[in-house]
Amino acid sequence: MNIVIFGPPGSGKGTYASRLMKRLGIAHISTGDLVREEIRSQTLLGKKIEKYSSSGTLVPDDIITDILKKRLSSELSKGFILEGYPRTVGQAKELEKITTIDAVVNLNVPDSVIVERLSARLQCKNCGAIYNEKTMKPKTAGKCDKCGGELFRRVDDQPDVVRERLKVYRDGSEPVVEFYRSRNLLKDIRNEDPNVDPEKVVDQIMKAI
Ligand SMILES: [Zn+2]
Repeated sequence: MNIVIFGPPGSGKGTYASRLMKRLGIAHISTGDLVREEIRSQTLLGKKIEKYSSSGTLVPDDIITDILKKRLSSELSKGFILEGYPRTVGQAKELEKITTIDAVVNLNVPDSVIVERLSARLQCKNCGAIYNEKTMKPKTAGKCDKCGGELFRRVDDQPDVVRERLKVYRDGSEPVVEFYRSRNLLKDIRNEDPNVDPEKVVDQIMKAI
């Protein structure tokens, strides 16, 4: 099964995607992780991306698509959950050329819930793993379970910045969401409890797909 997962920053999409991966036995592909990996291993693409991000410009569509193609080629027969892509209708059409998408999970969470949740969010400096002081604590305070890296609070998780990020997300994602709605692939998942047990949301998603 090939799934795309959509949701605003702080909707928990990374968390749900990695739990879905375990339940369905398919790969979890996050373009954010792929990009970090390219930069860390200093590939040609990684160096290009670094140049874009250090100059503050957006990484062009085709670079992200190339990285994704490379990674998807090994999973096409097994299925995957894709996170962070497509961000534009152009990318959605590119993805259609690469493979068939069976379902698009669209996480709907009220802004107030996201602001509350992100203010409790911690991220690993080393591997990018996400934790939450209330709902998903690391085993040792301040340290990443996966790699032992130091956890920190992101500047862009502050309420004012979050509200701005949500607006940017909505404006950007609306056309892509509508693209998939028109293809009858969209599965809307609603969740209004900031401290919801992630497994319950995953149950909801499993029923919908
Ligand atoms: Zn880590």
